[in-house]
Amino acid sequence: MAYHKIETYDEATTNTLKAHYQAILENVGEDPNREGLLKTPERVAKAMQFITQGYSMDAAAILNSAKFHESYSEMVLVKDIELYSLCEHHMLPFFGKAHIAYIPNGVITGLSKIAHVVECFSRRLQVQERMTHQILDVIQETLKPLGVGVVIEARHLCMMMRGVQKQNSVTTTSAFSGQFMKNETRSEFLKLISADLS
Ligand SMILES: [Zn+2]
Repeated sequence: MAYHKIETYDEATTNTLKAHYQAILENVGEDPNREGLLKTPERVAKAMQFITQGYSMDAAAILNSAKFHESYSEMVLVKDIELYSLCEHHMLPFFGKAHIAYIPNGVITGLSKIAHVVECFSRRLQVQERMTHQILDVIQETLKPLGVGVVIEARHLCMMMRGVQKQNSVTTTSAFSGQFMKNETRSEFLKLISADLS
């Protein structure tokens, strides 16, 4: 499979990032030479590359790699897709779930590909609103379905840890195309995903 997660790291990038994280530690008042922090810059450098690996993924290629002709024309729904991203304003995590549905127009894709598309757009610096539309657009453009619905619910650490400290607020964004613009279809989708929203 072509889209396994990166477990090897670019050495030059790791070294560059490592130097920067060392400087960050000093600048927040830490001693980068104390035992517990010795390997921290390198670990963070690797973690950062892992959680931004979406930049090297191609969502359209992921979907195009698994297109199947199928006459099924009911709603296909993949719900509760876990997602972890970084807000581009504070570089703090936001995380939650994506619910994605589409109505095929002769072409379906592998269900796991839908989750891969979420990875592609979440593993990078993001704003939730843009990610919601990017997911919708790539599904619309590659599968050319009769419609797509995307709902994302997420908690943002930049809100929870700093600023207004609204500990329990969940941000919900949604985007719809085609048949999902119709009340009836959209309501069915929202009813299906709200069955066990937490
Ligand atoms: Zn933020």
